[in-house]
Amino acid sequence: MVTAIVGANWGDEGKGKLTDMLGEESDIIVRFQGGSNAGHTIVNDYGKFALHILPSGVFYGHTTNIIGNGVALNIPDIVEELQGLVDRGVPKPRLLVSDRAQIVMPYHKLFDQYEEERLAGKSFGSTKSGIAPFYSDKYAKVGIQVSELFDEDALREKVEGICAQKNVLLKHLYHKPELDVSELMETLADYREKIRPYVCDVSAYLFQAVKEGKNILLEGQLGSLKDPDHGIYPMVTSSSTLAGYGAVGAGIPPYEIKRIVTVVKAYSSAVGAGEFVSEIFGEEADELRRRGGDGGEFGATTGRPRRMGWFDAVASRYGCRIQGATEAALTVLDVLGYLDELPVCVGYEIDGKVTRDFPTTTELKRAKPVYEILPGWKSDICGITEYSKLPENCRRYIEFIEKELEVPIKMVSNGPKRHEIIYR
Ligand code: GDP
Repeated sequence: MVTAIVGANWGDEGKGKLTDMLGEESDIIVRFQGGSNAGHTIVNDYGKFALHILPSGVFYGHTTNIIGNGVALNIPDIVEELQGLVDRGVPKPRLLVSDRAQIVMPYHKLFDQYEEERLAGKSFGSTKSGIAPFYSDKYAKVGIQVSELFDEDALREKVEGICAQKNVLLKHLYHKPELDVSELMETLADYREKIRPYVCDVSAYLFQAVKEGKNILLEGQLGSLKDPDHGIYPMVTSSSTLAGYGAVGAGIPPYEIKRIVTVVKAYSSAVGAGEFVSEIFGEEADELRRRGGDGGEFGATTGRPRRMGWFDAVASRYGCRIQGATEAALTVLDVLGYLDELPVCVGYEIDGKVTRDFPTTTELKRAKPVYEILPGWKSDICGITEYSKLPENCRRYIEFIEKELEVPIKMVSNGPKRHEIIYR
């Protein structure tokens, strides 16, 4: 069976922990989009890890971990992350990389940086890992596929074309050093040797695995609101964050994705710029940030403080719908135990009218939150494993959210550790 695990919000919903848990029951774990621009935090017996590019199944001996064709493949990052695991006592994981995945080049990172500099204050809050220039090149058909590393003559011709085009921009728009064909060819030769042991025809491999009834987990990065089509464009990421894209970015039949676990955070947080209707500020935000996640809400990749807000039912219901959620997992609920009252954003007021539907970015800019206030439970629920043992007000909060989401909440995460979970 194929399961997808994806985020309903702005990312950082705690997918890492749940992916790690679902990974235990999986034979194969596949990354199908994004690159090393976001991070999953996983706490297990080996310690605490931030994974950026490797699939979350890398801690298990029984799983095959796959980087699908939809991923922005950063080869040095993969090598470094693999080494980082081995150095900390994790057995070397089984890894396959799609021969159709495209490669993040050093110049993608540079273009990201140069463009942010050029835009100065008007930037998109990119993590500067080259993701936007990478996907731009992919769709402009000047990207480099893994398979192309193995045909040196054709590759050189392509690289010459790339340099001719990019050097115009580097020289005249950014006033930066130009690219050199031989240097890039050397880099690519190095990448070829590094990635060679893992290269695989992934869609053929997965087709066979589906036929054999293997459990396959598609691991999403970021969340619905960062999707380039359905999210808060243009403050989005450059590849689709939706479960539906799992079929494309892994190369499996869309109808095989039977279970879509959509992770919803019990409050809101976001990194980078963009519309965020239920955002809170000042001391109120600082306190939630300090108590949030596992040791504070700071970006796993960048260390940037996350923007904080109350639970947004409008955005989360939309986030679940656009994912095609078959179930929801509510996370980091334990963090909210200190609050006397919990505001929940149940509507957006736009031009004097209240809506429950998540609008386009144009309208979102004018939206004001409409809150309903729920009573707090004022206790530590971390580690409770039975739903009925949760304080009444806590259950009320969960059931209120479930009604708003219109999706069953089957798991409630009440702590960063693996066993801190309630199944319903
Ligand atoms: P992802 O991008 O969705 O994978 O989000 P991360 O897993 O990187 O970020 C979530 C943060 O919250 C990490 O520091 C996790 O260890 C932590 N976390 C996950 N689930 C829970 C939970 O239920 N309670 C608490 N307190 N922390 C959690």
